[in-house]
Amino acid sequence: MIAHLRHLTRLAGRGHNRLASSASTSYLIDQPEYSFLKELGLERNNPGVYSGHWQGRGPTITSYDPGTGQAIAKVRQGNVQELQQTIGLGVEAYKQWRQVPAPVRGEIVRQIGDELRKYKEPLGKLVSLEVGKIYSEGQGEVQEFIDICDYAVGLSRIYSGQLINSERADHTILEAWRPLGLVGVISAYNFPNAVFGWNAAIALTTGNSVLWKGAPSTPLVSVATTKIVAEVLRRNNLPPVVTLCQGGTDVGQSLVGDKRVNLVSFTGSCKTGQDVGVEVQRRFGKVILELGGNNALIIDSSANVKMALDAALFGCIGTSGQRCTTTRRIIVHEQLHDQFVTSLVAKYKQLIPRIGHQLDAQTLVGPVHTQQNVDNYRTTIEEAKALGGTVAFGGKVLERSGYYVEPTVITGLAHDASVVHRETFAPIVYVLKAKNVDEAIAWNNEVEQGLSSAIFTEDISQAFKWIGARGSDCGIVNINTTTNGAEIGGAFGGEKATGGGRESGSDAWKQYCKRATITVNHSGELACAQGVVFNVE
Ligand code: NAD
Repeated sequence: MIAHLRHLTRLAGRGHNRLASSASTSYLIDQPEYSFLKELGLERNNPGVYSGHWQGRGPTITSYDPGTGQAIAKVRQGNVQELQQTIGLGVEAYKQWRQVPAPVRGEIVRQIGDELRKYKEPLGKLVSLEVGKIYSEGQGEVQEFIDICDYAVGLSRIYSGQLINSERADHTILEAWRPLGLVGVISAYNFPNAVFGWNAAIALTTGNSVLWKGAPSTPLVSVATTKIVAEVLRRNNLPPVVTLCQGGTDVGQSLVGDKRVNLVSFTGSCKTGQDVGVEVQRRFGKVILELGGNNALIIDSSANVKMALDAALFGCIGTSGQRCTTTRRIIVHEQLHDQFVTSLVAKYKQLIPRIGHQLDAQTLVGPVHTQQNVDNYRTTIEEAKALGGTVAFGGKVLERSGYYVEPTVITGLAHDASVVHRETFAPIVYVLKAKNVDEAIAWNNEVEQGLSSAIFTEDISQAFKWIGARGSDCGIVNINTTTNGAEIGGAFGGEKATGGGRESGSDAWKQYCKRATITVNHSGELACAQGVVFNVE
């Protein structure tokens, strides 16, 4: 395996870039080292719409390896007309699916999980190749989809309503959870497999059909994942309860505006998410928004600093700074600040030889996804310097094929500097010096986003302050662990400009349902609530 992956590092040095490869006719999928792409049923030119059969009449898009700039393969996206047809088929499929008992739906989701297990290795490699995340993170992403399938199988047998006491004699109030209909999933490039998985496993289990539009720059993961799911549906003679329409903004907007899509689960930037939220509300649809973060790691004076440094390293640099939960701000107690920066920089230095192609077994820091990420990285560092920040480590774009930047530590900025308050999707962290935990909490909370946060402390009163009403205002409020790398068992999501949505575990399943409150009168006489008398003889 390791030997097999190493050849990819050599490719990274061969001088390919995006422009060169788009003009060439050579695709990675045709090379023997990339046979795993064919194991997934991919070809050089793939249809990007699935609604029981495969098609794609929209623009063809080429998918590139961000680690080398080489073309991987092509996908024929869908157009708006195909999206609308797909919505119609998804609604029809829902009408059958809602009749299937929930534990039987769970059995289908179990089969999807098993099918994913069979393809975990090649699918995870494709996630790495197309996004730029390292091998173990690509595998981990597919594992997350498998885990949520397991979770959903259990859920299918236990999710339930309740029985509520009525104030009227011989009346009973019931609460039941029913499916919504068609759930539209629009996902971001950085989690091209798991975000669909979190949504699909729970939405299917609760009786909905699902229509997916993945990010335009990760279309191969969308196609390969849908093929795996479609095989399970075929084997069970099911209608297309999962459909796919790859496309750009026009397809996304059309999905968002369509009344037949009862819930839109959107993962992406705050700006686009806000527009999506308004559009869905305009038609009284339901929406789950999973948007950007600006996540802080607080180091209290009592912190276990060794552990905090390890958390900072993975939090800031994992996925090359392209997780929504990436640590973007480290707020350190003034007594520890200078030593912490020195130790952090020493750790960062050790990572420089570990920057490389995402599929190389030695790599810990892969490329960022596109030239746009590189440009944003560069602009942000210039702005930080102009604002008086000091680049304590990194700050440079690496001169090689693909999109490589140095992980970067910036110190000396004001806690409310414009760059500090912005999410730049690249491995840049700002280290801030705070007087005490109260000040650190105030800074944690003053940004627009409210996704993830963590404190390192050994002081129980600070820890409980952090998780209490005066503490972090984020959806994820960790103690002595990273801001990133959440498990599927809890509800995932954030407050404020992060959108307020919750996905995955806990009671997030309720968002995929409508609640019916049912009053049953078994008294034989009509009685109004609150003692109201209203009748005539
Ligand atoms: P993006 O907003 O550019 O795109 C997300 C998706 O929206 C894509 O599929 C895109 O085609 C689609 N889209 C674009 N315009 C649209 C429109 N007007 N209507 C409907 N759909 C439209 O985001 P991105 O660059 O792919 O992803 C990075 C962002 O996603 C970051 O801000 C990151 O924090 C966020 N993110 C959040 C979470 C979370 O769970 N909170 C998870 C992953 C990523």
